[in-house]
This record gives sequence, structure tokens and C-alpha cells, in this order.
Amino acid sequence: MMRIVLFGPPGAGKGTQAQRIAAAYGIPHISTGDMLRQAVAAKSELGRQVEEILERGHLVPDEMIGRVIAERIAEPDAAAGFLLDGFPRTVPQVAILQRALGEKRLDRVVMLVVPDAVVEARILGRAQAGEGGAVRADDRIETIRERLRVYREQTEPGAQVYREQGLLAEVDGTGNIDQVFGLVAGLLGGARA
Ligand code: AMP
Repeated sequence: MMRIVLFGPPGAGKGTQAQRIAAAYGIPHISTGDMLRQAVAAKSELGRQVEEILERGHLVPDEMIGRVIAERIAEPDAAAGFLLDGFPRTVPQVAILQRALGEKRLDRVVMLVVPDAVVEARILGRAQAGEGGAVRADDRIETIRERLRVYREQTEPGAQVYREQGLLAEVDGTGNIDQVFGLVAGLLGGARA
């Protein structure tokens, strides 16, 4: 049983690490970003409401994403734990998550720490790799910069709540995928595989 939250700025490799952690511990990888992008692709009511917000790199309203996450963690596959990737992202969302969890508690909150200069370099690399090809709508340089600003301004204060609760563990996210995963797994201990 593992209930984990993963924090990290855009460009930190958070999605990749989230997938590996979820696989290693046999728990679902719940990415609110993926869920929202799927809603946009499916042109659902939710997708229509959030499309422009995602393109700008802004956050969708707390209550809206709160409903999405509450439904998702109530699904049977999340009963035995989960890895949250991209939620919570604001101080109010931390409270929304706690309400949705009820009596249940998070086991660990992990933050991939990557300095702005490294994130900037990765952002440029990613944008260039996408040039001429299919670039995800929120992968444009300006959008990623805006997402980084939003992360520092709104998401880090959310992580601070967990820091004060003694739940937050910070991991150096500047290494390669295997190095970072090694650090995270060492921290969480007891991987299934
Ligand atoms: P991500 O893939 O986690 O970086 O999320 C991509 C985009 O989805 C973000 O830039 C936001 O526009 C939106 N999003 C994802 N999760 C949340 C959240 N917890 N609260 C608000 N907006 C979110």
C-alpha cells in the first residue's frame, strides 16, 4: 500500500519518473495533465472548458480539477494506493486532496528538485526537438516558461504544506532517468519488482 504524490517543475522528467515508480510499486499512475489532455482530445465538455487554459500554461480552477481527482481516486484500482503526478498543484488543492482521502493518509511526498537554469536548458532542447514536427500545444517555449512561473508561485507553496507536515522528501532531479529513479526508489524503499 503506497499513496505517493510527486512534485517537480516542468522539464524535471516528472512524468517519466511517475511511470517508473507506479510500475515498480504496482500502483496506478494518476496524471491530471494526461487526464485533461485526453479530455481535450476527446472534445468532451471538460475538454472544451480547459483547452485554452492548458495552451496558456495556466492552471484549471481548483474545484474543477478537484472533482476530476476525487472521482479518479475513488475508482477500485486506486484502493491499494496510487502515484499522483500533477496534483495537488496549489495550496487549496492540498486541502481538496485531504478531503477526498478522508481517513486515509499519504505515505510520501517526493519533490524532484531542478534549478531554473537546468529547466531552461531542457525547455530549449525539448522545443528544438519538436521543431518542424508535432509539438504538443503546451510544449511551446513561452508556455513552458509560464508553467515554470506558475509552478514556483503556486505549486511550491502547496509542497511547503507537506514539508511542514514532515512528509516531503526532496530528490536531486538533475541526473539522468536511471540516476533519479535510483534516488527515488532508495527513498521509498520496498519496490515490488
Ligand atoms: P502536466 O502534464 O501535469 O504538466 O499538466 C499539464 C497542464 O494541465 C498544466 O499546465 C495545467 O494547465 C493542467 N493541469 C494539470 N494538473 C492540474 C492541476 N492539478 N490543477 C490545475 N491545472 C492542472
